Parts: sequence; structure tokens; C-alpha cells
Amino acid sequence: MKAALVTGANKGIGFEVARQLAARDFHVFLGARNRAAGEKAARSIGGNATFVQLDVTDGASISAAKKAVDHLDVLINNAGVMEDGDENLLTLDPEILRRTLETNTLGALRVTQAFVPLLSKSKDARIVNVSSGGGQLSDMGTWSPAYCISKTALNAVTVQLANALRDKSIPVNSVCPGWVRTDMGGKNAPRSVEEGADTIVWLATEAPRNLTGKFLRDRKEIPW
Ligand code: NAP
Repeated sequence: MKAALVTGANKGIGFEVARQLAARDFHVFLGARNRAAGEKAARSIGGNATFVQLDVTDGASISAAKKAVDHLDVLINNAGVMEDGDENLLTLDPEILRRTLETNTLGALRVTQAFVPLLSKSKDARIVNVSSGGGQLSDMGTWSPAYCISKTALNAVTVQLANALRDKSIPVNSVCPGWVRTDMGGKNAPRSVEEGADTIVWLATEAPRNLTGKFLRDRKEIPW
């Protein structure tokens, strides 16, 4: 049975990705920083899901998670925060940018560094970073600067990792799920979590293995 680790999987897009992968006979390590929320989410998926306590900003938590995961084929770096909104970069508290980078960018990097040794043992290892169209330099405005900068930086992490892992044949890609109805996306977002999860699950399972170092939405490449 293949195994996948999904970070920030107690709710939203991460939970839906975990649910879909479990339905495709993956064993899912459901990462969540909150034990009660994570255990409840894993129980609702059933036998194919195991809760793993994982705060992506906490090195000790990542080390402990590493011990709890015995084999791994797919890593989905999904955990993310958005603390800022309408303010622009001229008035943004730099502390918000630092915290956002800690989770959205460095969190994904730290978790990947920790799990590459295990992924390297798989014949079909894949890494998916859940990014955002907000990080596209080609379409950047002033909205949510900390969030958008963190996702641009995550996209750079994706390209660097894809190049660094080419010799191990581990594809690494960024995905924009679109604007999705979750706690982060809000009630007015046009997409369901099922739609938001689609490209992520496709990259984790069926996408051509030579597709790497790209930014995708709706299973198609989009500009950085
Ligand atoms: P969500 O419902 O707010 O879920 C975010 C998840 O990340 C939660 O499980 C949260 O845990 C977790 N998380 C935050 N900080 C964490 C940390 N330090 N360690 C571990 N987990 C942490 O948001 P979502 O919409 O599903 O977002 C999932 C991903 O999609 C994010 O990377 C987001 O940027 C991206 N995205 C979303 C949209 C959208 O429209 N919704 C659009 C583009 C990209 P807690 O429950 O403990 O807070």
C-alpha cells in the first residue's frame, strides 16, 4: 500500500486531499498541529488514515512526526496561513510577513528536508506544494502582501527542490487550487474542496513522472 503525508489536513483542502487519497487505497498520515482536530479528522476518514501531530513551524514536532511515519511515497505540503488582507506592503507589520513565511514557505521546506530520505526509498515518490495564484509574479497586485510573498517564495522552493531532486527522480510541483470554500477562502469562493483538491491528487497519483518544477492549476501549467 502506498503512503502519503498531508500537512494541515484536519480541515479544508488538506482534509479533502487526505480523504481522496485514502479512497484510492493510500495509507494517509494526516498531519495536524492540533491533536483533537487531527484525531477527529483521521477517525472520520477511517482505517486508511493515521493522525500525526505536525506543526510545520516546529522542528521538534517535525522530528517526532518523522519517527511516526515508517514509509512514504507522497508528500503534500498543504499547511498554510493567511493573516493579512486588504492592507498593502507599505503598512504591513513585518512580523506578519515573518510568521507567514515561517509556515507557508519554511514549513514546507523543513518538512520536505525531513522526509526526502524516506521518499527516496519509494519507486514512485512525489512532492506537491500547495501554493496560490496570489504568488504569481506575473499577476501580482497589492492584496495580502505577506501571503502572496510567501507563496512566491514557496514557488521558488518548488523549483529549487525539483532541480535538487532530479537525480533521485522525485517530481516536485506547485499547485494553485483556485479560490476554494474553506475557512481561509470564505463562503463566497466559487470552488468546492473537491475541485480544489483535484490537481493536487492528480499530481500525487497519475500525473506523468517527468512533470516537475512547474506551477499548475486545473491540471495545466500556469505562469509563475
Ligand atoms: P484552511 O481551511 O484554513 O486550512 C489550513 C490548514 O493549515 C489547517 O489545517 C491549519 O491547521 C493548517 N496549518 C496552519 N498552520 C499550520 C502549522 N504551523 N502547522 C501545521 N498545520 C498548519 O485553508 P485551506 O483553504 O484549506 O488552505 C489549504 C492550502 O491551500 C493553504 O496552503 C492555502 O494557502 C492554499 N490555498 C487556498 C485557497 C483557498 O481559496 N482556500 C486558494 C489558494 C491556495 P489549524 O486548523 O490548526 O489552523
